[in-house]
Formats: sequence, C-alpha cells, structure tokens
Amino acid sequence: MTKQEAIINRRIDQALMKYAAPYLAGQPCRVKFRKPAAKGFNASVHNSLDGIPEVNLTPDMDPERTLKSYLHELGHVRAGHLDKAGKMHDMPPDSNPVYWNNINWQNEAQADAWRDQWLKYGRKHAKAADTETQGILYALVDYYKTKTN
Ligand SMILES: [Zn+2]
Repeated sequence: MTKQEAIINRRIDQALMKYAAPYLAGQPCRVKFRKPAAKGFNASVHNSLDGIPEVNLTPDMDPERTLKSYLHELGHVRAGHLDKAGKMHDMPPDSNPVYWNNINWQNEAQADAWRDQWLKYGRKHAKAADTETQGILYALVDYYKTKTN
C-alpha cells in the first residue's frame, strides 16, 4: 500500500465507522474524530444535548487501537449505559478531569465484552477489503442488516 493509499484508506475507515455506528449501537449514534473532553483519555462517549450518543476518538491513533476503542465505546451505548446519563455540552478536548473512583468498572467490563464479541464475529466473517477495519465493519453491518430485516 502506498502512502497515498494509506491516507485514503484511513479516511474510508473513518467514514465507515460513522456509517456503521448506529447499526452496532442499535440506535442513532454519532462518531467524531477529535480528542475527547475527558482529560487523559483517547476515546469517550457521552450524550449530546440533542440526546444522541456521541463517540469521540483521537484522530491519530493506529488503526487497531482506533477500531478497538470505537467498538468499546459503542459497547457502552449498546449495553444501555448512556440511558441514565445526563446530556453534555461539546466541551473542549482534554478539558474535563475524570476521577478514577467515578469509573464504573462493571460497565467497563460490559463494554469490553461487546468489543470482543464484535471483533470475534467480524474477524471470522470479514469481507474482502483494503483494511482490516473495513473488512470487519462490512461484516458487522451485514449481520445487523439481515438480523433486523
Ligand atoms: Zn469505557
């Protein structure tokens, strides 16, 4: 893959992650490639003011880490963790301190379980594609499209 192709594929990965998010989350869900407001974190999810969950992903992470973080954050949405959470402003990146004793480790384990399950299915059924991320996400979108029809 040339450098140019890698740059283009990164953009395709990002577009596909935005497209696939509502299928995986099971509800409307946005993805933005920006550093989260949560200080020191590379990925996060929160309810926007309009009530739609929004995943934030640091743009310059390597593809595998990006995909794993993306699936973990969507796992929180799929597991219903945001249903009771308040709505948040779009705060500046790295501006909101997170306290370790406020982290719900049971929820984190549930989000990890969704991530691992999606990764396992996606790798097993991956479609021919230019990147691993694309192959996995095409397989997962196909799964949810046929499941809900
Ligand atoms: Zn988490």
